[in-house]
Amino acid sequence: MTSLSTRPAFRSGQSPTTNSQSRPLAPCVKISAGVLLAEDRSTPAAVTPGSVGSVRLLGVPIRLHFTFVLLLIFLVVIGLGGNQSPASYTLFVLALIASVLLHELGHALVSSHYRIRTLEIVMYPIGGVARLERPAKPWEEFWIAVAGPAVNLAIAGVIFAILYSQNRSFNLFALTQPSSDNLADRIALGNLILAGFNLLPAFPMDGGRMLRAILSSLKSEYEATRIATWSGRMLAISMGLYGFIYMPMLAFVAFFIYLGAANEGAASRGRSLTQGIPVRAAMMTQFRTLSHGATVRDAANLMLSTSQQDFPIVHGDQVIGLLARNAVLRGMAHDGANSYVAGFMQREFPSVPPDQDLAEVLPLMAHSGACVLVMQDGRLLGLLSSDNLSQFLLLRSVGLQPSEG
Ligand SMILES: [Zn+2]
Repeated sequence: MTSLSTRPAFRSGQSPTTNSQSRPLAPCVKISAGVLLAEDRSTPAAVTPGSVGSVRLLGVPIRLHFTFVLLLIFLVVIGLGGNQSPASYTLFVLALIASVLLHELGHALVSSHYRIRTLEIVMYPIGGVARLERPAKPWEEFWIAVAGPAVNLAIAGVIFAILYSQNRSFNLFALTQPSSDNLADRIALGNLILAGFNLLPAFPMDGGRMLRAILSSLKSEYEATRIATWSGRMLAISMGLYGFIYMPMLAFVAFFIYLGAANEGAASRGRSLTQGIPVRAAMMTQFRTLSHGATVRDAANLMLSTSQQDFPIVHGDQVIGLLARNAVLRGMAHDGANSYVAGFMQREFPSVPPDQDLAEVLPLMAHSGACVLVMQDGRLLGLLSSDNLSQFLLLRSVGLQPSEG
């Protein structure tokens, strides 16, 4: 299940205060040790935005991105005019969707072999994307990537073997005339195309991940990522140009490849800049907290006088909640400025320990967009927000070496 565990009460200590404290508190993300990362890494907020539905296969939630739903509608509309029966056409489309799904489950199966959980599989127009709970090491990534296309090759192989055993001849040209008779042939061919397309050595395709894994053994991960991202962009641009002239559908695919390459590139750059660095190196240590007895007005004033957007709510030494900017606005609109922050704070908040690898926290931050609290033994040490994380990445990219402790 996707849920965040609640840390009910930490030790209570001094009375709450709105003054800045010597203890570091970071606005944004409160990462309590192990709460998110050790107990259950999938959080409700970890659902990819724009995706709908959730069917579980082998324990992995499968979601459809809205662009995939649009593609399905598009396929149904263009398929209605064809000369094959609606049943055969529907079967063909369903078989291809199932093939993409099996491809992703192939990734999920191999990643579970490396003890990496798959948080969700999201179906996009250019295929599925299996989102993993932590980044894989280069050779793990290689074998996880190989698994997807291997599934499609296996499906095609099995279908061809069955057709061969029935002494059926395979005529490639006949496949341009879809009929119920060559349905199996077309599903096999579709799987060959899926495998071939995914083996292209460019991000975000599986071939791009394999390329990066191989390059990582020769160069730094950063360089390897840069090359795989570059080849993804080049592929997308050439496909896009060709598509605009001859095949508009290809330009559509190229657009998603370009976006995917850019996203993968940014995520991998983020990973290579944060891998092996503890959360404590990037967390905000100068921050304000609010006492549980503070009002929404106090929170609003603090938001104006500081650059902080999220405030840990404390009762003595104990953190009892997290107040985000939206909650302040909601509180103000609903109950007015004199209402108590305790009524609007988030009682279950993400927290991580200070020694947690920053690279492992990135996916959490990217998907929750929230602030994570950095905590140890119930004590608040700092805040990790997307703002200060961006600052940290920016400084790292120009050569900052994180200090210890
Ligand atoms: Zn794949």
